Amino acid sequence: MTEQSSPRIIPVVGHRDAGLALPEIGLHAELPSANGVLNDARGRPLHDLRISVTDRCNFRCSYCMPKATFDKDYPYLPHASLLSFEEITRLARLFVQQGVQKIRLTGGEPLLRKNIEVLIGQLSSLRTPTGLPLDLTLTTNGSLLARKACDLKAAGLKRVTVSLDGLDDAVFRAMNDVDFPVADVLAGLDAAQAAGLGPIKVNMVVKRGTNDHEILPMARHFKNTGIVLRFIEYMDVGVTNGWRMQEVMPSAEVIDRIHSELPLVPLEASSTGETAQRWGYADARGQHDTASGEIGVISSVTQAFCGDCNRARLSTEGRLYLCLFASQGYDLKSLLRGATSDEAISAALGRIWQRRSDRYSELRSSLGADSGGPGGRRIEMSYIGG
Ligand code: SAM
Ligand code: SF4
Ligand code: SF4
Repeated sequence: MTEQSSPRIIPVVGHRDAGLALPEIGLHAELPSANGVLNDARGRPLHDLRISVTDRCNFRCSYCMPKATFDKDYPYLPHASLLSFEEITRLARLFVQQGVQKIRLTGGEPLLRKNIEVLIGQLSSLRTPTGLPLDLTLTTNGSLLARKACDLKAAGLKRVTVSLDGLDDAVFRAMNDVDFPVADVLAGLDAAQAAGLGPIKVNMVVKRGTNDHEILPMARHFKNTGIVLRFIEYMDVGVTNGWRMQEVMPSAEVIDRIHSELPLVPLEASSTGETAQRWGYADARGQHDTASGEIGVISSVTQAFCGDCNRARLSTEGRLYLCLFASQGYDLKSLLRGATSDEAISAALGRIWQRRSDRYSELRSSLGADSGGPGGRRIEMSYIGG
C-alpha cells in the first residue's frame, strides 16, 4: 500500500527559506566516517533524527500555530512537495548508517498524515550498523490516538509522547483554540497505555498566567501512573507566536511549586543529549520512590543544553535543519529527486553534520534570555517539528 493525498485535512505553510548550499558531492564520494560515529564541529555525535511528516494540524495552540496566522488562507505545502514515505525511509536509512539510533515522527500533527502506519512499518524495519532496531517514537496532540494506538503499535511504533497543557477543560480548550476536550486526549493516553506504547511521556508547555495553575493538578494526576510528565518552558520558536519572556515560567519555579506539595529528588540523566532534567518523587526517607514515578523539565530558555545536542531535523518537504532555531536548511529533496546515489547523499549528510556548530540557546543565554535571541527569521515549529 502507498500513501495518497488527503484532501479532507485542513489546508495551511510554514516559513520557507532559500536553502543552504549543499556540500560538493561526487558520485564516488567517500563516507566521512568509517566507524559509524560522526561528530559535528563541537564534538557532538549524530544520534537523533526528528522527522516532520506534515505541516498541518487540527489544533491551533497559540504558542505554535496561532489562528491569526494559520487561518484558511495559510499556504500549506502542496502534497507534491512532501517527501513520500519511500523518500523518508531512504533518507532515514542513510541517517541510520551515519549513527542515528532514535527517530521521532512529528509535525504539525503526525497522525493527520494519511497511512502513517505504512511509514512506521518501513522505518521499524531499519537496523543500526550493529543490527539493532531503532528507538522509534512519535509526538502527538493525542486527538486521534484513541482510534489509532493499536495500529501504530502493530506497525512497529515503540513509544508515544502526548502533548497536554492542562486538565481543566476550559483551559485546555482555550489553549488548543479549537475547543478540543481534555477527555478525548485522556482516552488517547489510555489507549496508548493499553496498546503498550510506553513508557509514555506527556509534554506540557507552561505559559505563565495561562496554564501555570495546572502544574500541580497535572503532577497529581500523572503521579503513580507510569507516565512521565514533562514541563516545557515556552520557547521563542518561529515568529508568529508573539513570544514574551514574561510568559516563560522557569523550570526552577515549576520544580519549587511541585516540591512544596510532592517532594522531589534529582535523578541522573538516562542518556547523553537528553533534553529533560529528571526529578523523582521522594519517599518518606527522601529516596526516589520508583513506584510513584518521575517528572522532567525542559529548560530550553533558562538553561541551554546545546552542549550535547545530538538532534537533526528533517522538515516535511525534505530540508535538513541542524537546530530548532535555524533559519535555513539543506534541501535534501533535490538530491533524492535528482538521481543522486545513496553513497553521495550519505557523504553529503556526513559533511553537513561535521560542519555543524549551531548553539542558539547558549547564544541567547549569553545575550540575555529576553534579548530576542541571535540570528535572523526563524522557521515555525509546525514546519520543522518539536
Ligand atoms: N502536534 C504534535 C504535538 O503537539 O505533540 C507534534 C508537533 S508539536 C510542534 C511538538 C511539541 O512542541 C509539542 O509538545 C508542543 O507542545 C511543543 N511546542 C510547540 N510550540 C512550542 C513553544 N513555543 N514552546 C515550547 N514548546 C512548544
Ligand atoms: Fe498542533 Fe502540536 Fe503545534 Fe499544537 S503544538 S498547534 S498540536 S503542531
Ligand atoms: Fe540543539 Fe539548537 Fe536547541 Fe541548542 S538551540 S539544544 S543546538 S536545537
